[in-house]
Amino acid sequence: MLWRLSQMQEENQTMNSSSDYGCDVCVVGKGLLGSATARHLAEMDLNVLLLGPDEPSVKSQHSGVFGSHYDSGRITRIIDTDLYCARIAEASISRYRDLEESSGIDFYQAVGHLAVSSAKDYIDEITNTARQLKVDFESLTNPELLDAFPYFSFANEVSGIYEQFTGGYVNPRNLIKAQSEMVLKADGKIITDTVSAIEKRKGFFEIFTESGKKVRANQVLVACGVFSERLMPGGQNLDLEICESTVLLAELSEENAMQLQEMPSLIFRYESEIEKGVYLLPPIRYPDQKMYIKIGHSESRPMSDPATNLTKWFQGDGDQAIGEWLYSQLFDLLPNVGLSNLKTESCAVSRSSTGRQFIDVMDESGIHVLLAGNGYSAKSSDELGRITAHKIISGEVPDEYSDIDFTVKHKRT
Ligand SMILES: Cc1cc2nc3c(=O)[nH]c(=O)nc-3n(C[C@H](O)[C@H](O)[C@H](O)COP(=O)(O)OP(=O)(O)OC[C@H]3O[C@@H](n4cnc5c(N)ncnc54)[C@H](O)[C@@H]3O)c2cc1C
Repeated sequence: MLWRLSQMQEENQTMNSSSDYGCDVCVVGKGLLGSATARHLAEMDLNVLLLGPDEPSVKSQHSGVFGSHYDSGRITRIIDTDLYCARIAEASISRYRDLEESSGIDFYQAVGHLAVSSAKDYIDEITNTARQLKVDFESLTNPELLDAFPYFSFANEVSGIYEQFTGGYVNPRNLIKAQSEMVLKADGKIITDTVSAIEKRKGFFEIFTESGKKVRANQVLVACGVFSERLMPGGQNLDLEICESTVLLAELSEENAMQLQEMPSLIFRYESEIEKGVYLLPPIRYPDQKMYIKIGHSESRPMSDPATNLTKWFQGDGDQAIGEWLYSQLFDLLPNVGLSNLKTESCAVSRSSTGRQFIDVMDESGIHVLLAGNGYSAKSSDELGRITAHKIISGEVPDEYSDIDFTVKHKRT
């Protein structure tokens, strides 16, 4: 590790003066995973540049790249059917408060998280992982659920697991702000721009931006969410699937929001394989100052021809048929809450065939990647950033993980 660092420093001293900026590592993508990685790298004393555009002001008129973090609420929880997912969430959640305090930016609401289902296997799997990680949780029978959360309507067969103290939600925009603030505090740089190309030279990379800037970096990380493949030679061949998500936002009055102020975030797993279930965020104040409840579907649909359709999808309002289905589910769950001004929004996630992130170096180009949020990475972005920073600096993920789990996979031809 020391050898690599000193080599980087030497190479930096011979930085080509025709570049606008020079750095040890250029992190491309100022989203949840990129900002977290840049923060960990900067705090490990590397000279870091975090490079990416801000959120567009009018999505429907924006023709550039988009992020999957343009929202005010993402569920956070440790409890999960998958032990790996639970571990990276637990590690991240354990650092939320420190990050809030050191950055001065709040992003975590520990309102609790409730997972419910009539599928016994699902509840058993969650219970097992929660026990393995010694999570503080409560198992609730159907009558206990209705007693604790009287505003929800659940069928008789539904039972639940309640993660009262660590679950809740994060504000993804503020989480990125907090990570970015820490990058700056650790003497890193942030540039608001979109990368148009990355080129490998002898022993370094040149990164070109849409506004004509040029960055010279010893290492480069692509963490551009669903737009990542566009920046990598052979990127289309990665075993990743871009999937469409539609969410429904429903406004509620201040009075109704007050009545639901104890409401936890919720995942309702259905027994049907097609409609895997829904997730629900409690009332949150959005940038327009109104209170909204958000509902989304757990199973997102693969997008056909993302190279053509991804930008159009983000510019639009999602799938109206799914929006209507979400409204019916919301009404079933909260039958007595007055909701108005319903609107749908589009988003997209990338999923890997392995269900894990790809945290690796691309063979052909030497570009580092952090890909495949898999629809659950907002809450765990801090730990994923730490794992990736470790990989970039030492060539390996931290000891408690295994490199093989994060290896990039390609589509079979
Ligand atoms: C509807 C929806 C609900 C979700 N709910 C949850 C949840 O409840 N809990 C949870 O933990 N996770 C949730 N997720 C998943 C989570 O939001 C993603 O896993 C996370 O955003 C992935 O982070 P990322 O950094 O890979 O991508 P993003 O957050 O999308 O960030 C990528 C960034 O790269 C930038 N970029 C793209 N191309 C370029 C380029 N050429 N040059 C420079 N920058 C570029 C983009 O502008 C963007 O800022 C949800 C996702 C969706 C869509």
